[in-house]
Amino acid sequence: MTPLAFARAADAAEAIRHGAAARAKYLGGGTNLVDLMRETVERPSAVVDVTNLSCDITERDGSLVIGGAVRNTAVAEHPLVRTRYPMLSRAILAGASAQIRNMATVAGNILQRTRCAYFYDNEGSRCNKRSPGEGCDALEGFNRMHAILGASPSCVATHPSDMCVALAALDATVTVQNADGDRTIPLEGFHQLPGEHPDIETVLRPGDLITAVSIPALPFAANSTYRKVRDRASYAFALVSVAGAIEVENGSVKDVRLVLGGVAAKPWRAFQAEAALRGQPATPQSFRKAAEAELSAAVPLQHNAFKIELAARTIAAVLGELSGATE
Ligand code: SF4
Repeated sequence: MTPLAFARAADAAEAIRHGAAARAKYLGGGTNLVDLMRETVERPSAVVDVTNLSCDITERDGSLVIGGAVRNTAVAEHPLVRTRYPMLSRAILAGASAQIRNMATVAGNILQRTRCAYFYDNEGSRCNKRSPGEGCDALEGFNRMHAILGASPSCVATHPSDMCVALAALDATVTVQNADGDRTIPLEGFHQLPGEHPDIETVLRPGDLITAVSIPALPFAANSTYRKVRDRASYAFALVSVAGAIEVENGSVKDVRLVLGGVAAKPWRAFQAEAALRGQPATPQSFRKAAEAELSAAVPLQHNAFKIELAARTIAAVLGELSGATE
């Protein structure tokens, strides 16, 4: 057994004080961290329970501010989330099981780690994310679930969150706090692509505590959805998912948001597809063309080439559903 210290923080300052210790980890619902500790992938020196902190959902200056310790279920069920940002509610409800959603927190969801099976196999597999410089057994292994966009020769893992895909589409920002004060990070830039350092997954600094997520007003996000394609109807990670919102005026696309999940080490904001769509006729042909533009950079592995066509079809289907323009 590996000994570790435990503290239940009464406020953010106390949490940050404990969280400054080397190899300290903040504990939300524990739905990923505890698994990682069991597999000895994570070996924290201290665990700091932050579940009593920042548990509110409030409106501030037109934005919806969700505390870092709010449970996933509470976000999905909140009336303002359901009416203003239905893609977020649907994304959360598409993730995990009801029991896990009841436990998991917003901050923990953002910080959950890849479900690459080689990453969890601490005894038998090589993994650059777990042990930098060791190698990556997924590259020549079974890589059906792995990335087609933004990967590197060091790591081809995907980010597992559904919630983050919707948050990236909604231009959400993450507020973090440390001993020097607060700072705000766009969710879209929060997670890092692997490059040569897949062990560095986010822009967080040691001891940073996520205190809130803010979602700005985005009126056309009321016309949004989240579609997740997976091997079974529940409790499975995405092969491909799409968070989409579209505003159509006089038959043309006035504005659009598209983010892909299950294809990269971070929620993949489809900037190329969005740019290709603005000002274009809202037709199935435009949707398909924009999807193909986004996926032209995709690089398949041995077992996941199907994701390219799957992603293109899912983008087109989501935009068709939201705009009513279907073939
Ligand atoms: Fe590790 Fe990434 Fe390779 Fe998976 S894909 S084994 S997480 S380096």
